[in-house]
Amino acid sequence: MGNIATSEATRARQILDATCAVVTGGHFVYTSGRHGSVYVNKDAVYPHTSAVSELCAMLADRLTGANVEVVCGPALGGIILSQWTAHHLGVLGVYAEAAETTGVEDTRHGLVLRRGYDTIVAGKRVAIVEDILNTGLSARRAVAAVRAAGGDAVACAALCNRGGIKASDLGVPVLHALVEIDAQAWPADSCPLCAGGVPIDTRLGKGGRMRRPS
Ligand SMILES: [Zn+2]
Repeated sequence: MGNIATSEATRARQILDATCAVVTGGHFVYTSGRHGSVYVNKDAVYPHTSAVSELCAMLADRLTGANVEVVCGPALGGIILSQWTAHHLGVLGVYAEAAETTGVEDTRHGLVLRRGYDTIVAGKRVAIVEDILNTGLSARRAVAAVRAAGGDAVACAALCNRGGIKASDLGVPVLHALVEIDAQAWPADSCPLCAGGVPIDTRLGKGGRMRRPS
């Protein structure tokens, strides 16, 4: 930690703001139905390849010293992060995907290493990378997939921690997050922004859908 980590956090936040991956000062409706002033759209950063590369160089920097041999991320976003982070570390990058044959991760099923990636992580020191930690569910499932394949999950590194997630929540010894965001959210009926008459953003989040007549 120290000055380097602090300046990296500042730079990482600049990148996330500039690519509109983090939007502050608004009034958003989240998937949960709760309201808040910060919207995090992880998908907004991925088209900006130099931004992704720079962020992943920071993740790689945090992971230096963990003697990582393979990087693994949860599909879909984790595929991109895994590739770039592994590239900057000079190691192999793989991904974990939905255990369900539909290919779509849902809340009932875990993640699995397919395509021969299980043999790549077996017996190796593996870092798990994730874009945004909300509940940490995807990262936790990627950790489980790595362990199920015989890999040693030695660390987790994320772009943004907005759920106050700790390493112990993910079952790994170390968790690095470039940016920490306080994810204060309120039930709709006690939202201070609603009370203050701040219009709900209908472009981002679920505000648009909820405002459409049913
Ligand atoms: Zn509100």
